Amino acid sequence: MAEILDGKKLRDKLLERLKTQVDKYTIKPKLVVILVGDNPASKIYVNNKKKTAEKLGIDSVVLNYPTETTEKELLNKIEELNNDKSVTAILVQLPLPKHISKENVMNKILPEKDVDGFTPYNFGKLFSGETPTVYPCTPKGILLLLKEYNIELEGKHVVIVGRSNIVGRPLSQMILNKNATVTVCHSKTENLSEITKTADILISAVGKNIIEGEMLKSDCVIVDVGIFKDENGKTRGDVDFESASKVASYISPVPGGVGPMTIASLMLNTVELFEKQQSL
Ligand code: NAP
Repeated sequence: MAEILDGKKLRDKLLERLKTQVDKYTIKPKLVVILVGDNPASKIYVNNKKKTAEKLGIDSVVLNYPTETTEKELLNKIEELNNDKSVTAILVQLPLPKHISKENVMNKILPEKDVDGFTPYNFGKLFSGETPTVYPCTPKGILLLLKEYNIELEGKHVVIVGRSNIVGRPLSQMILNKNATVTVCHSKTENLSEITKTADILISAVGKNIIEGEMLKSDCVIVDVGIFKDENGKTRGDVDFESASKVASYISPVPGGVGPMTIASLMLNTVELFEKQQSL
């Protein structure tokens, strides 16, 4: 049976360390989260972020905007936050309503306050093999989880299923920078299982139950990023845990794997930005 990659345990350890660090500051980091519209999943994510930040003593503000907010209004607010020295981190919760350009919004956030690492500046740095101000949270959390379990990336074949801007794409670059051989699969990939069978490490970020034990190489490492509710309302990941855990050497559960690591990474990024701005 595969060993569990326990994201909750590592999150708790990282947050405990961070709290000790934040306790020492005389002025505190301030994270501003902008939420536009009433997407229920986004509301839950934003609340979790706020609650976790508060537990650490990070000042955290959520700005709720109605769906009909204009792009101009949003850009003006970001400009104001960029100029406010007390605000050390800015996060715009995605997805945005369709009439607002995500590109324009991301472009407006100062890279030094870009806690998600999603601005074109930080993305460009990442994709050119340089160091961005901070790394995107979910990929960063995945790498921290693998490191905690001493799972080496160098020379390994890592297969990533999913090529979104928040997971697959930045993750592929971060893993490439660790000298792994990376294959990125997506909805148009043919013969997915032939590719997944060659993976030493398989990372799935799709949002559908698509990975079965028989698609895996013996003793591989599985990181399941997907999270969704099945037809019975049960929280599921992309990977069929029962069959996969019999083949793999390590597997991250859903829930309790990548999700907690994403939030821990957001807090790490908030503190990193603060320290850079204060030159600590
Ligand atoms: P997304 O933007 O919808 O991207 C999904 C990706 O999966 C796309 O690249 C898509 O390919 C690919 N795909 C769809 N069907 C496929 C198939 N049959 N075979 C292979 N690839 C397929 O999703 P996302 O935002 O990256 O999120 C993915 C999942 O991860 C969701 O369940 C989300 O909730 C979860 N997630 C979890 C965390 C966390 O912290 N735990 C963080 C972020 C996301 P195309 O590009 O060709 O369309």
